[in-house]
Amino acid sequence: MSQQPSIAIVGAGPGGLTAANVLSRHGWRFEVFEADPSVASRDQGGSLDLHPEDGQVALERAGLLDAFLAVARHDDQEQRVRDFATGSLLREEIPEPGAGSRPEIDRSVLRDLMLAPLASQAIHWGVRIDEVVARADGRHVLKSGAGTFGPFDLVIGADGAWSKSRSLLTEVRPTYTGVSFVELWLGDVDRQHPTLSALVGRGTMFSLHGGAGIIAQRNGNASIRVYAAIRTRPQESDRPDKVLANIGKDQLLARFGGWAPSLLALISESDRIAAVRPISSLPLPLGWLHRDGLTLVGDAAHVMPPLGVGVNLAMLDASDLAVALVSHDDWRLAVHRYEKLMLERSTPMAEQIAQGFAEWFGSEASQAVLDDMDSHRR
Ligand SMILES: Cc1cc2nc3c(=O)[nH]c(=O)nc-3n(C[C@H](O)[C@H](O)[C@H](O)COP(=O)(O)OP(=O)(O)OC[C@H]3O[C@@H](n4cnc5c(N)ncnc54)[C@H](O)[C@@H]3O)c2cc1C
Repeated sequence: MSQQPSIAIVGAGPGGLTAANVLSRHGWRFEVFEADPSVASRDQGGSLDLHPEDGQVALERAGLLDAFLAVARHDDQEQRVRDFATGSLLREEIPEPGAGSRPEIDRSVLRDLMLAPLASQAIHWGVRIDEVVARADGRHVLKSGAGTFGPFDLVIGADGAWSKSRSLLTEVRPTYTGVSFVELWLGDVDRQHPTLSALVGRGTMFSLHGGAGIIAQRNGNASIRVYAAIRTRPQESDRPDKVLANIGKDQLLARFGGWAPSLLALISESDRIAAVRPISSLPLPLGWLHRDGLTLVGDAAHVMPPLGVGVNLAMLDASDLAVALVSHDDWRLAVHRYEKLMLERSTPMAEQIAQGFAEWFGSEASQAVLDDMDSHRR
């Protein structure tokens, strides 16, 4: 086994915490730096399905698969596609009880699950890393408003789409797809919104048409998270998160002219607009010149539009990297090999996702979703 390098993990998202758990399980020490002030300081986002071929592999390597399966929502794997104009069903897939292989978990529950085994490790909350700086000896320091940390032999950049760790490896930045997801919430749906609860079902409901979409997913605590997806106008497309920050429900509904009232009720009856999420992705091909002592996992390496693989890939990357580190004699070589494997895997995936996303928000949107469902079944 190689001599343990000193390690910093930037970001305590699913990628960073997967790396942390696999390393910790093998007795390795590290420091995690996370911008969130505390574990509960921010809504973590929607429900996630973790797949047996990637997310669940990572959890197994982290020693957390059984714990995940114990808390995951196995009953929430249904999928429905509805016609935008009538709300009627175009496709419904309801797995037999116990048959679905992609159980759902709320992000906050996943984060808690992955933090529990790390109590003895150093996790610095409320530290937003502004810059990773290379030193002459090949090590790196982390600069933040809270001070300078390190030097570290190895920095693992798990800091998401707008990664600061990436800046030392490449000047390439994510570009905006032109589509933003306006996120809305409905709570206590079985009692307060039974019609909408039935419309969405126990899982995810898609309705897409003409560059717009209403995607609703059942979350824990009988809540539904709705993504009202819109193509932004040119004057909105520079920082749409800021420009659309105060969009009201009426303005949002006006973007969905001709849509079925049953679907629009997911917007009009929602409790609140929670966030505007501009969808961005890293331009292809992915990659950078390898640099000793600094690497990336997850969205930092390959942010792509949300078609249900991002978290799974982030966790697989992180577990691949951590397993490589604890298994090889030469940790630098282990990182190099990980990077090659990760980029070879994620580049064709990113191409496929980019094409799929363009089709979802293109002219044959409903058919594109139905085709995706068919390809998952194969
Ligand atoms: C609307 C939407 C829906 C999605 N739905 C799904 C889905 O259903 N299934 C799926 O698999 N994927 C989904 N994704 C994609 C998924 O969210 C990401 O791919 C995944 O979260 C990537 O994990 P990560 O750990 O790499 O990054 P992140 O989850 O972004 O975590 C990064 C962490 O780093 C922290 N951080 C950021 N910058 C710094 C800094 N400078 N210093 C310190 N800390 C920092 C952040 O606070 C965060 O905790 C969705 C994405 C969006 C936008």
